Amino acid sequence: MLGSILPFDEEKVDRVSDYCEKRSLNIPDTLADHWEWTRTRFPDADKMSSCLQGSWMIFTARDRKPKRILEIGCYSGYSALAWYEGTKDTKAEIVTLEYSPKMIAASREAFAKYGVEDRVTLIEGPAEKTLKTLTGEFDLIFVDANKDGYAGYVKTILDQKLLSPNGVILCDNVFARGLSIGPDCAPWLNDHVRPYWLSCGEALEQFNSGLVQDSRVDVLLLPLFDGVTQIRWRDQVKA
Ligand code: SAM
Repeated sequence: MLGSILPFDEEKVDRVSDYCEKRSLNIPDTLADHWEWTRTRFPDADKMSSCLQGSWMIFTARDRKPKRILEIGCYSGYSALAWYEGTKDTKAEIVTLEYSPKMIAASREAFAKYGVEDRVTLIEGPAEKTLKTLTGEFDLIFVDANKDGYAGYVKTILDQKLLSPNGVILCDNVFARGLSIGPDCAPWLNDHVRPYWLSCGEALEQFNSGLVQDSRVDVLLLPLFDGVTQIRWRDQVKA
């Protein structure tokens, strides 16, 4: 088999996830508690990153040692808490953008409860506007909000040079549950959510195909979780 993706069937996916989770660094109890709190409180809690993604965020932050992190799409604050945990040594500043009043309230409650307000700043409002008000550079940028906004967000980040010279942008869900690749790629998706993910798939396919042609950056789209794209500034090769 020469492909990069194993053909796990639908029933095996939970076992694979569980296998990886139990053989990866543990998320702290506080993060696990917050994940459970969000799961039981919000009917759309599938918007939240998984526990394995939490381990990945902590690992990535410890590995890259960012001084500043920007997140677009806070939801209940789970990923911001994971970035906080992963930067306990380096004490990174974390800026997170969110527009839903309900999720702003939930996140603020969580940030106060877990005592992370010293380094986490939540900026309220539509990210299309708030992103443009930011200044300085970020070493790690996590794009995880409305899927039809990804192209605009990454354009603003690059045009305004919000990404530091050695920084990385991580865009989550670029597979749109498989529908970026084709409408036949997620037969298991129920009819209730399929129209939403179909429109995300169309927007993200345009984003994915356009981004790889941007000569300013190197792009790597990985079959990780629901598809994760890594973006870095392309090195200028000296003649
Ligand atoms: N990063 C979170 C995590 O890992 O748990 C999950 C984020 S969830 C997938 C996306 C969030 O982006 C939602 O809370 C939604 O309200 C927010 N969002 C969607 N469109 C937005 C916009 N235009 N501006 C700001 N936030 C937005």
